[in-house]
Amino acid sequence: MPSSIPRAGIIGWPVSHSRSPILHTYWLRKYALAGSYERIPISPENFAAQFRSLSDQGFAGANVTIPHKQTAMACCDELEPAAKRLGAVNTIVITQGRYHGSNTDGYGFIENLRQRAPHWRADTGPAVIIGAGGAARAVVAALIDAGAKQLRLFNRTRSRADQLAADLGGPVETADWQRLDSGLADCSLLVNCSSLGMTGQPPLEISLRALPPTALVYDLVYTPLQTPLLKAASHNGNPTIDGLGMLIHQARPGFAAWFGVMPEADESLLQLLLSDIESTKGI
Ligand code: NAP
Repeated sequence: MPSSIPRAGIIGWPVSHSRSPILHTYWLRKYALAGSYERIPISPENFAAQFRSLSDQGFAGANVTIPHKQTAMACCDELEPAAKRLGAVNTIVITQGRYHGSNTDGYGFIENLRQRAPHWRADTGPAVIIGAGGAARAVVAALIDAGAKQLRLFNRTRSRADQLAADLGGPVETADWQRLDSGLADCSLLVNCSSLGMTGQPPLEISLRALPPTALVYDLVYTPLQTPLLKAASHNGNPTIDGLGMLIHQARPGFAAWFGVMPEADESLLQLLLSDIESTKGI
């Protein structure tokens, strides 16, 4: 008989490097709630059976990370429109044995943007998005919903950018990767959604010469926190936003559903995650 204390966790393979347990455990303590948040390693073989057994083990739900975001979607009973639109889930809520899948990456992206740049408006000018993977899909969808009038999408593999634009619709233009530098002219927001700049990956090769000095530069990469892109943008005087706040904000709806309190993205949590990133040298 499972305990009535709610359990949640992060499903991935591997999952040992996930920082999600740090933030959920911080919130459980902060709000003095009974519950646990665990690492749930599930290999791709036999995924469906192990995933569907979480309910019997007393799990109220889970986050889902690489490589299971699409497979988990196929194993859900119901999907939120955001998950259907993006073709991936990152949050599962289990109620009476039924699995409800959602995707909170776009929410996390916009909430962090609004917290860090309260005067930002989506319709101020064109936004340049770099990348066409899962994160870029969430960001493009969130910017369309926020009222962006023009989105310029650049990806190394052009066909993936074209597919994203076709899938999501809206004011999305794609262009060749080689034209990225000139594509920055008159833009008001630049978002790196590629993995370039991440620890262990090549840096993002970009010239910011054409970027207006007022443009906001947002990097989803948070290991390291100050990516070469953010350093170059700060050096030019552009306002910048790192990816750590998005990581925190995307976790909030899941916590609220499993444990009953919508948690805050506060400064102490930010510091806790920062010191973890520093102690593990960005892994
Ligand atoms: P993904 O689906 O694997 O997409 C990776 C993207 O990076 C693709 O657009 C890929 O281009 C591009 N890329 C990879 N290596 C490249 C290279 N050498 N040159 C040019 N482009 C390259 O990954 P994802 O899930 O979208 O995540 C992307 C990044 O966002 C990761 O660093 C991840 O940690 C970060 N992220 C952060 C948060 C947060 O909460 N802050 C949330 C989600 C993701 P191709 O299509 O050409 O391969």
